[in-house]
Amino acid sequence: MSNAVMNRREVIATGAAAAAVALSGVAAQAAGPKLSLRLLETSDLHVNVYPYDYYRDGGDDTFGLAKTATLIKQARAEAKNAILFDNGDIIQGSPMGDYMAYKKGLKGNVHPIIAAMNGMDYAGCTLGNHEFNYGLEYLDLALHGAKFPATCANVFKADGSPLVKPWLVIERDVVDEAGGAHKLRIGVIGFLPPQIMQWDKDHLAGKAMTTDVVEAARRYLPELKAQKVDVVVALCHGGIARSAPEKGEENAARGLATVAGIDAIFLGHQHLVFPGKDFAGIDGVDAEKGTINGVPAVMPGFWGSHVGVIDLTLEQDNGAWKVTGHKVEARSIYDRTPDRKIVSKADADPAILAAVKADHEETLAYVRAPVGESSAPINSYFALVADDPSVQIVSQAQTWYVEQIAGTMPELKGVAVLSAAAPFKAGGRSGPDYYTDVKAGPIAIKDVADLYLYPNTVRAVKIDGATVREWLERSAGMFNQIDPAKTTEQELINPAFPSYNYDVIDGVTYKIDLTKPSRYDGNGKLIAPDAHRIVDLRYKGQPIDEKQAFIVATNNYRAGGGGNFPGCDGKTIVIEAPDTNRDVLVRYIVEQKVINPSADANWNFVPWPETANVTFVSGPAAAKAAMPKGVKVTPAGDAPDGFAKYKLAV
Ligand code: MN
Ligand code: MG
Repeated sequence: MSNAVMNRREVIATGAAAAAVALSGVAAQAAGPKLSLRLLETSDLHVNVYPYDYYRDGGDDTFGLAKTATLIKQARAEAKNAILFDNGDIIQGSPMGDYMAYKKGLKGNVHPIIAAMNGMDYAGCTLGNHEFNYGLEYLDLALHGAKFPATCANVFKADGSPLVKPWLVIERDVVDEAGGAHKLRIGVIGFLPPQIMQWDKDHLAGKAMTTDVVEAARRYLPELKAQKVDVVVALCHGGIARSAPEKGEENAARGLATVAGIDAIFLGHQHLVFPGKDFAGIDGVDAEKGTINGVPAVMPGFWGSHVGVIDLTLEQDNGAWKVTGHKVEARSIYDRTPDRKIVSKADADPAILAAVKADHEETLAYVRAPVGESSAPINSYFALVADDPSVQIVSQAQTWYVEQIAGTMPELKGVAVLSAAAPFKAGGRSGPDYYTDVKAGPIAIKDVADLYLYPNTVRAVKIDGATVREWLERSAGMFNQIDPAKTTEQELINPAFPSYNYDVIDGVTYKIDLTKPSRYDGNGKLIAPDAHRIVDLRYKGQPIDEKQAFIVATNNYRAGGGGNFPGCDGKTIVIEAPDTNRDVLVRYIVEQKVINPSADANWNFVPWPETANVTFVSGPAAAKAAMPKGVKVTPAGDAPDGFAKYKLAV
């Protein structure tokens, strides 16, 4: 009946296509009907619906699913056949996610990101690593509210059965170029980084297990193919590694692209954009066209910053659809002008905003209300002249977190954990008000942005004691050389040296001898091989063993070579954590309830005579702050540009 009609249409379409080929004089290929299928992707949404930064407590046009939804509507309107998927990292990663998990809960509530997605006609999603951050029961409740199915082929329950469906078949009515109607069967298979077993050990040990991505693809693709699917889309919550594919890897796209039978790959997890220059020069990867091993692939940034678009051309040959062409694009919701201004390219969809309005407002109240308490004020007015609570608290949280992860890795068992952190807000070119200043007492989530400015993620490197010393030597370039015999004014701080490169390493004690020149220049180049500023470097009270191994907790910027620090070239990384340093800080505060960020004075300067007039500047508000321990700070009048001057004695 309707099949007969469809068949006749196909025959007519075949004839039309053949005539077109003959007219254009191009060699005949498939002679059947031709259709275009637009595959749309969001990924790494991390509970960002409103374009609103809850940490800064202000609007932000660079993210938010409500904006992405507008681009998706446009992309759908342009295409005859379009289908939308999400690639995971859905339910965690913004204060709204924490609010739902820690405060409101999901019993009787649909998760707000799911509610927003339910209004956008998603065909399915895969799971990201962050789906497991609040435990399996919470994930189950969240997925329960979704009007779309989840698929993942490499995560299992303890009994070996799949945690969610390893693959899906989605049948869609589609229209070919000639207007003919067809039913298209789209096979969908999902993957996540097997490392979730380390990253969420507490939630998953004994309850779940993971397998290698490529291994899972080889295991389940034949089953999926047997469902007579016309096209296969892989939802890979992973990215593209620079190193050659290896078993068990986190960013497995290159390995996956070598598995036969996958027509398109959605990527994520790295929070980058593909096609794009971040992926230039990788074997088998076309970073301009958006292919890996010839397979079209796309990665849409993060938090809804982009929508991934893969346009497939399908042609029917002997009754079977074949992909004969593809085009890949990542569309951004904003532009950045040459002077770094943000220009929005999509208004927020009012229906999507309305769907989560109540949770948005409750989240605002949540970030503005206390989540813990600090027993001491946390400010950075003196962060460059003495050990400081604003840096101390970051190191305490990083050490707490990295020790937990290292404890799950046999190769890191028993290795001492240190932590490196720098004052991010410490005046300088950003002006005299640019300091962290959180009062003692209740501490709100939005205060945490003041303590950790950048959305970095946690990394740990493994280095020896000698390299710990060199790291500190590189940091000590923060200071000018001091002549102890001079009685005229000498400025302590080198204004060209950014404060975010002044790493304090916690877990060791040391002194800085400023009578010596800096061993490294501002770019991290060794310039004075005979000079040593770091003296009396001790671990557990004993002179550091230059050969002893240490794990140093830091961030992705430093560990990947940012600031060109000794021991930090990307090759020493032993822990590549999925969490932002800021989230770790929030979790630390929530779990400790009362934090004690008093600095432990683990570093100081080698004293100079009081007759030396060594000065530095800070914000005028520093006058009201508690004076740091171990040094003597005396007000010395006003300094240019609104700063206040102080004399420093040790
Ligand atoms: Mn993510
Ligand atoms: Mg300290």
